[in-house]
Amino acid sequence: MAGLQYDQEWRKKEESIEEIIKKYPELPPIAILEIDAHRRGVFYTDAALERLDDSIHQVTEYKLRDGTFRKVPASLTLRDGSHLVVSEDTTKTARDPYLVDVVDNKIVLVDQGKVYEEVSFWEKPKFFDKFTSRGTPMKNVIQARPQRYSLQPSKFCHFWECAKDGCKYCSIGSSGVKYHGKPDDLINLQDVEETMRELVKEPGRFVGVILTGGSILSGPKLCEDELQIYIDVLQAMGTVFKTKKWPSQINTTAFDKEQLQRLYDQTGLTSYTTDLEVFDDELYQWICPGKAKAISHEEWKKRLFDAVDVFGKGYVDTGLVSGVELASPNGFKTEAEALKKDFETAEEMASHGVLLKHDIWHVGDNSIFRGQLNPSLDYYVQLTKGLYEINKKYGLSADMDSYRKCGMHPNLNLDRI
Ligand code: SF4
Repeated sequence: MAGLQYDQEWRKKEESIEEIIKKYPELPPIAILEIDAHRRGVFYTDAALERLDDSIHQVTEYKLRDGTFRKVPASLTLRDGSHLVVSEDTTKTARDPYLVDVVDNKIVLVDQGKVYEEVSFWEKPKFFDKFTSRGTPMKNVIQARPQRYSLQPSKFCHFWECAKDGCKYCSIGSSGVKYHGKPDDLINLQDVEETMRELVKEPGRFVGVILTGGSILSGPKLCEDELQIYIDVLQAMGTVFKTKKWPSQINTTAFDKEQLQRLYDQTGLTSYTTDLEVFDDELYQWICPGKAKAISHEEWKKRLFDAVDVFGKGYVDTGLVSGVELASPNGFKTEAEALKKDFETAEEMASHGVLLKHDIWHVGDNSIFRGQLNPSLDYYVQLTKGLYEINKKYGLSADMDSYRKCGMHPNLNLDRI
């Protein structure tokens, strides 16, 4: 399959951001810009990169086609305190990305010469320059967004072993690209504990931590090994807190009720996420075939409802990779059909106390879906508004995954307004 095809005419085929801002006066323009920048990605000019200081900022380095490396900011914060979670490295968009440039001495987001908003580069936490007693750089143990930390206990996903089972939007392993993770490639618990001790020393910064990783199906019953890894890591992290429970979230394969109860009882975990990914059963089977074979769509939903019984309403959420339900050839043919089904499933989930969120689909160059186009800005604004309203209707607070903690979910980010 070919890589992404840049369509020079794309601006003529869809409504512009100015038109969408006029169409939805109930949404602040900065929220619409945030959605569009997530959808289209960003590219840094030389002038912007001159402002990058790796003694202050969090820096990402990636390899260019010519074999050289390019250093860019990990990501950006908007003027209203919300974050863009978008890296130039993963900006493989068929539309023009926004430019991050310097105008009037300010770092700004620009499109077609028009300045939209001032932005700032993410600053790195103090522990990033330190090492554990085993010599491991602490930044390799725990990663950071501006106010939330993240940790991947394992560098493995079962579906990378059998590429055709992988999720079709996944850029890591589903295209058959060799990934180096192994089932026993686990994070060192001593490194975790030492890094946590450093991390909590930074005043006013830490609002929570998220643990996530691929699916590990093995064990005496489905996903037992995955569960045990999370329990071990959460217990190691919990040693730095005086209270039993502390601000935390994990995003895992859907555990059954007995596993969820064990997770809750044996750790300080306060909130739980398992992403349904696709809000239509048939499309779930096509897009996430491995997951669907292991846990059906119905069973995944049931496990989410069970999680609400264990963790409580407002402490469980689920997401969709928004836009993949329109992927060709089997996806919905129109954005209206996709939205209808998304809202139908969203209502069902929220009525059982499950908070809803969406992540904008980035078409990864290494994914099975490479070469496809994500939907229009209008679709993303409608989805964002709809999910926000459904959460509100069922009294579901966005706090567990708010704009300060994550930043990737446009509908939850609206809660700050
Ligand atoms: S479960 Fe996650 S890591 Fe594994 S193939 Fe699917 S998206 Fe990729």
